[in-house]
Amino acid sequence: MLVVMNAHATAADVATVADRIRQLGMDPHVIPGATRTAIGITGNRGSEGRDTLMMMPGVEEVIRVTAPYKLVSRETKAEASRFPVANTHIGGGFTLIAGPCAVENESMVIESARFLTERGVKLMRGGAYKPRTSPYSFQGLGQEGLQYLARAKQETGIGIVTEVLDIESVDRVEEVADVLQVGTRNMQNYALLRRLSQARTPVLLKRGMAAMLEEWLMAAEYIVSGGNRQVILCERGVRTFADHTRNTLDLSIVPVVKHLSHLPIVVDPSHGTGKAEYVPSMSLAALAAGADGLLIEVHPNPSQALSDGAQSLDFDSFIRLYEALRPIATAMNVELL
Ligand code: PEP
Ligand code: MN
Repeated sequence: MLVVMNAHATAADVATVADRIRQLGMDPHVIPGATRTAIGITGNRGSEGRDTLMMMPGVEEVIRVTAPYKLVSRETKAEASRFPVANTHIGGGFTLIAGPCAVENESMVIESARFLTERGVKLMRGGAYKPRTSPYSFQGLGQEGLQYLARAKQETGIGIVTEVLDIESVDRVEEVADVLQVGTRNMQNYALLRRLSQARTPVLLKRGMAAMLEEWLMAAEYIVSGGNRQVILCERGVRTFADHTRNTLDLSIVPVVKHLSHLPIVVDPSHGTGKAEYVPSMSLAALAAGADGLLIEVHPNPSQALSDGAQSLDFDSFIRLYEALRPIATAMNVELL
C-alpha cells in the first residue's frame, strides 16, 4: 500500500502516520516528493489498516501498489529519482563513469584518473576485487587496489565506483567507494543485498546475466526496502543464443525500466558487446534510448590490460566518443555529466 499525503500535510502529520503504520505491525518508508510526501508500506497483508489510515490528518489517499517490487516502482514514486554521488549526481542528466576493468597498479589508476578529470569526467570505475570466471585469472589487487583508488581520488578529486564481492569486505570498500558496484554474478546474492541496504553509499546494481526485469527490480527492492534508496541499475547484457557479441546488450530494457521504476539506469556497453569497436555506437544508442549514463571500460593501454582489454577503449577513442555524445545530448536537451 501507499499513503499519499496531501499538499498541506505537515512533518508532524507524516510522523504520526508513520507511527500508526508501525503500530499496525507494518513498515513505513517515507518518500519525499516535489509537491507532496508519500509513505510506502511494506510488510502489510492485503489492504489491512487502510480504513484507519484514510481517516488520519494530512492523508489524501491510500492506494494499493500492484507491482511486486513496491518501493522501486513508479506506482509508489512517480518522479524519477536523482541523487548526489561524489561531486556530481545520477539521474536527470547523462553521467559518464569510465575507467579500467581492474586496478592493475598505482600508475595506471592515477594516469586514468588524471585523463578522465581533465576531460570533465567525475566518476571513475575500477575493480580492486574482481569476480573472475577462472580461478587462475587475475583476481584483482584487493586491499592494495583500494589504496590506489583512494590515492587517485585524493589527487584528482574523482569519485570512485568499485565492486564489492562479499559481505566481509563491505566496510573496507565503503571507505574508498562513492558507489558500490554489485556485479552480474551477485545480483541475486540476497545476503549481500541486505547488507548493502544498510550502507550509506549508493549501490550500482548490475543486471544478472540471465535475469528477467522483474527479478532485477526485486533485487533492487532488497536494497531499498532495508533503507538505502540510492540504487542505480546497470544493464550490461544478457546471455542469448547469439555469439557475435560477448553478451546481448538489451537496450530495449531502458524505456521499460523507465516506465516501471523511478530508479536511474546506466548502460555498460563494454561488457554488453565485449568488443571496443562496438562500444561507441551502443553508447550513443544508450543516450538516445533515455539511459541516465554509461559505465565504460577505458584503459591507458588496452592491449596490455590484465582483464577485458578487448572491450576497453583507449584514451583517444574515449575522447572521440565523448565528442560524439555531445550533439545527441544537446538535441535531447540532456546534460552530459
Ligand atoms: C566489471 O564491471 O568489470 C564486471 C565484472 O562486470 P559484470 O559483473 O557485468 O560482468
Ligand atoms: Mn570488466
